Amino acid sequence: MLVFCILRLVKEGTNRTETAQLIEQWFLQNARDFPWRAEDTPWGRLISEFMAQQTQISRVAERWPAMMKRFPTPKAMAEADEQAVLSLWQGLGYYRRARHLKATAEMIMESFDGEVPSNVGDLLRLPGVGKYTAGAIASIAFGEREGIVDANVHRVFCRLENRSGDSVPSQWTWKIAEEFVSACDSSKVCNEALMEFGAVLCTPKKPECAHCPLRTTCKSFEAETQHEIPTPKQKAKRKEVFHYAVVIEHEHELAFEQRGDDGLWAGMWQVPTVESDTELTIEQVAAQLGIRVPMQYLDTFKHTLSHRSISLSVFTCKSRPDNNYLWFKREALAELPLASAQRKVLAVHYSS
Ligand code: SF4
Repeated sequence: MLVFCILRLVKEGTNRTETAQLIEQWFLQNARDFPWRAEDTPWGRLISEFMAQQTQISRVAERWPAMMKRFPTPKAMAEADEQAVLSLWQGLGYYRRARHLKATAEMIMESFDGEVPSNVGDLLRLPGVGKYTAGAIASIAFGEREGIVDANVHRVFCRLENRSGDSVPSQWTWKIAEEFVSACDSSKVCNEALMEFGAVLCTPKKPECAHCPLRTTCKSFEAETQHEIPTPKQKAKRKEVFHYAVVIEHEHELAFEQRGDDGLWAGMWQVPTVESDTELTIEQVAAQLGIRVPMQYLDTFKHTLSHRSISLSVFTCKSRPDNNYLWFKREALAELPLASAQRKVLAVHYSS
């Protein structure tokens, strides 16, 4: 029995080495051109990882160069105003990540002499850095032998082993990740390769098995179960809510307020807005904002987020300056950190 177990472990180890090498070779020939790969620094990698959490990689690739130009070092970001970071984050969503990034830059200056830390233990101390991001930076930026698992890697491992049931990464997936990173030639190449392989070749709906270098060892390919693995995650039902945005104008300036430190669009700016779980009348909106002049209804549009569906109605009115708000001319709005829903509100206003 013991001999059998040892033989099985040796065989699995050999398989992992061969599979890891095949994926590494595939990556070296097929890696996509991303700017953080061309200008490869730990700080650049850290920024790309923060931006890529829950944002499409193509959008990150478009926005990363501007972020690096404005904040080429942790020092530059630590010394900047948080609003400057939020401004460059506009349209990427999940704005808490921008605030975590700014706080991370400050901690790097205060606790790590201005250098991105290289080991997982220190990286996990940074705001907004979890197990995946810490492993990604330690392995890809510093070559540490740390396994990483994201949704792409999880899917690849489940299909290679024909394992259904785990809709999201589990302890099993992390164990396989450790085995891969131990077996590969370079943890930097291997981890990037696994993520890229899942994003480009072993995709959720259309895995390109005919062109896959692993098809002779892939157990789900052999069993023809690859399209059922992993089991899809049950989607949470979106909550329906109602937002009422009022564009208040005075002599070509518009009134804005800043959102609170927590929750949706934390720290971002908006025109005065009422949020409700139920529909409100125009009179109720005016009363909640203390508006005593006539308001004009402009339009209503849907804005969908991962966890809620917002019916956003836009009104406008002309009013005297009100010290409860800050007032901005149209030319200044490009710099103001606004979530994309608020950009749509302004587009409705300016097109009316
Ligand atoms: S053979 Fe198909 S399912 Fe298996 S790893 Fe390759 S692309 Fe994915």
